Amino acid sequence: MSDYPKIYGEFVKGFPDDAACYAYLFHIRWPNSFICARCESGKYWLDKEGLYRCHKCLFKSSITAGTIFQDRKKPLLQWFHAAWHITENKHGTSARSLQQALGLGSYHTAWAWLHKFRVAMVSPQRDKLCGEIEVDEIFIGDPKPGKRGRGADGKELVLVAAEKDGQHIGRIRLVHISDARAETLNTALGYIIKPGSTIYTDGWSGYSTKQLRILGYSHVIVHTNGHLGDNLLPFANIIASLLKRWLLGILQGGNTSDAPWLLSGRIYISLQP
Ligand SMILES: [Zn+2]
Repeated sequence: MSDYPKIYGEFVKGFPDDAACYAYLFHIRWPNSFICARCESGKYWLDKEGLYRCHKCLFKSSITAGTIFQDRKKPLLQWFHAAWHITENKHGTSARSLQQALGLGSYHTAWAWLHKFRVAMVSPQRDKLCGEIEVDEIFIGDPKPGKRGRGADGKELVLVAAEKDGQHIGRIRLVHISDARAETLNTALGYIIKPGSTIYTDGWSGYSTKQLRILGYSHVIVHTNGHLGDNLLPFANIIASLLKRWLLGILQGGNTSDAPWLLSGRIYISLQP
C-alpha cells in the first residue's frame, strides 16, 4: 500500500493489525525493496524482535528507530489510530479527545502522544516561503472592550503568511509578533519569506513598499473597492479563520494544560521562527 487512506473506512480496512502498519512503514522506508544500510545487500529476514536482519552481514535495521514510534509501549496499530484521529480533525485535537477516541487509561499518556505528534508535524525543513505571498495580521485572545484594530490591548497578534499556489493555498507560516510596527513586521517577514518574493498586503502603513524593496521584496497593496466585506487577502483570511477554529477546538477539549502555549488566557503560537 502506497497511499494513505482518505476516509476512515479505508483506514480501518487498510490497517487491520500491527502487521499492516509495519508493512506500511516498510514501504515508506524501502519503496522499491529492502537494502541493507551497511552492505547494500537486498536479502533479509524478519527476526523475533521485529528487526530486519541482513542475510549477508547480519546488520539489524529497525523500521521504527528514529521515528515517533521508537520505544513505544502500546501496539503500533494504536499509534496509527492516534495519527488518524489527530490529522483528520481540522479543528485541532485535545489530549482529552485523543484519550477518549483511543480508550487510553491515562490522560498523561494521551498528552505525551499528542505532544510527540505535534513536534513531528513541524517540518524540519522550515524553508522560507517564496513566490507570491499574502500577508496579514490577526488578533487572538479574549476581546477587550474599547480598542480595535492593530493597537488593541490584551490580545496576541499573529502574522499570517500564505503562499499563493495558483488557485490554491501553498505553504503557510504563522509568527507571534509583539506589535504591527514596520520594524517588527519587517523582521518577521525576513524570517519566513525569501527575498525576490512578491508580498500582497492591505494598505496598513506598517508595510512600507520602500522598506520591503530594501529587503528584496516586491510589494503589492490590495485596495478595497469600497464594498462592505471585500475579501482582499482571501488565502490569508482562510488561514486566519482556520487558526481561530483550531485554537477553539483545543480550548473546547476542556483542559488548558493540554496546550502549552496557553498561559493565563493569553495565546502563544508555537511556530515562532
Ligand atoms: Zn548487510
